[in-house]
Amino acid sequence: MRDDDPGECYEVHAVKYANMPRRRRDNFMSADDHDGPMPMDFFVWLLKSPKRTILVDTGFNAQTAERRQRQLLRCPIDALRLLGVDPDAIQDVVLTHLHYDHAGNIAKLPQARFHVGGHTRGLQAVRVFTQRGWVVLASDASHYYENMAEARPFPIVFNVADMLEGYRRLHAAADSAQHVVPGHDPDVLRRYPRLASDPIGTAMLHLAPTE
Ligand SMILES: [Zn+2]
Repeated sequence: MRDDDPGECYEVHAVKYANMPRRRRDNFMSADDHDGPMPMDFFVWLLKSPKRTILVDTGFNAQTAERRQRQLLRCPIDALRLLGVDPDAIQDVVLTHLHYDHAGNIAKLPQARFHVGGHTRGLQAVRVFTQRGWVVLASDASHYYENMAEARPFPIVFNVADMLEGYRRLHAAADSAQHVVPGHDPDVLRRYPRLASDPIGTAMLHLAPTE
């Protein structure tokens, strides 16, 4: 979806499935004078139009969570049933890159065709048209809002200049800064209306953020 023909209009849901404690100093390349807790959330994203359902990223499973000491709150694929989606019927999955937290659970999607653009270098962001305009899912192109807002990249980076250019491109593809959604920020669930039926946390990104 590179041009400005909106085509179909999608609902976009960020489904939280895991989290982990982290410190601020772990989330930025440059030193932070104000160290403190800065936890990380893990999401998959579901895009739904009247005609199509597309899953963006697939999360990890219980064995991976145990090995990597992450807190798995639920299987991200099973969680899609809350949104009325049968995982067995999903036909299109975009993998933004192949890190463990974005590309596991493949066997749980038997009908899916996987769209892969690259890995850490060559990571895919996703631009999707919604009722409030063009939304951009940054995935790991920006883990947190602060990485983008302060031009201070997350420490896992292949090329810093390219990363900063990536922030610019994310914003150029979106209708405003409020349309760019970072990949791992717990603030996403605070800023957007949440699905009332999900106690763990699903943010509705096709609706305007409340802050
Ligand atoms: Zn990630």
